[in-house]
Amino acid sequence: MAQLIDGKQLSNQVLQKVASEVDYLKGEYGVVPTLAVVLVGEDPASQVYVRNKVKRAKEAGMGSIEYRLDTETTQGDLNQLVAQLNNDPQVHGILVQLPLPPHLDEDEVIASIDPAKDVDGFHPLNVGALAAGQASLVPCTPQGCMIMLRQVHQDLSGKHAVVVGRSNIVGKPMMALLLQADCTVTMAHSRTRDIESLCRNADIVVAAAGRKELVNADWIKPGATVIDVGINAIEADGKRKLVGDVAFAPVSETAGAISPVPGGVGPMTIACLLLNTTRAARRQLA
Ligand code: NAP
Repeated sequence: MAQLIDGKQLSNQVLQKVASEVDYLKGEYGVVPTLAVVLVGEDPASQVYVRNKVKRAKEAGMGSIEYRLDTETTQGDLNQLVAQLNNDPQVHGILVQLPLPPHLDEDEVIASIDPAKDVDGFHPLNVGALAAGQASLVPCTPQGCMIMLRQVHQDLSGKHAVVVGRSNIVGKPMMALLLQADCTVTMAHSRTRDIESLCRNADIVVAAAGRKELVNADWIKPGATVIDVGINAIEADGKRKLVGDVAFAPVSETAGAISPVPGGVGPMTIACLLLNTTRAARRQLA
């Protein structure tokens, strides 16, 4: 039976570190690290994510400001709000919750955020810095996955990792971080041929495809480490339930270590967002 990589427990450790960094910044510099979260529209999943982010920020002693904008918000109004937050010295991190309503240009909004306050790590300057192996604000979900992997592997060097999914927010930055850790990385996506045997050769599989229980036991080498990023809502026995991109029960029989859904990557993502906010606040002191 695989070792469980408990994202809840691990995220509490990260949040403790965040809380002590917040205390330090308050005590030493009189600075309250503050996160501004912008939500446009009524997307129910986004509303839950934003609520959790703001709640955790408060629990860690951070400042948080929530902006809930109407679905009809124009690009100009959103850009103006971002510009105002960029110029506000009391705000250290800015997060615009994605996805945005279709009439808004996500790339334009992301590019308008001050890279020093871009706690999601999506600004092209931060993306480029990560790809070049330079210090940057690193996207939260892959950052959380790396902390989880290091729980299992003290040394990732030379491990073969397969990342399933090539999105800008998960797959690509995950690849960059694994490369930085000296893994040999294979990126798989919807056009990849014989993805099962690629995964079967891997020491580490990170599943981020957004496809319910795509990865099954016959994709996994015995003893491999499996990180499940997927969040898929399903109906089971008349109830709404979240499942990952990995078929948890059968894969647990084969894998050496596995992260669950829920209680895996999700809480790590929020913890890393707050970690990024304290990092951003500290850098803005200079
Ligand atoms: P995305 O932008 O939709 O990208 C999905 C990726 O998976 C694409 O690269 C796609 O390939 C690939 N893919 C789709 N079907 C596939 C298949 N059958 N075989 C192999 N590859 C396949 O999704 P995302 O934003 O990266 O999110 C992925 C999942 O992670 C979602 O379930 C999302 O909800 C979850 N997520 C969780 C967290 C968290 O905090 N836990 C954070 C972010 C995302 P193509 O590029 O070829 O289309």
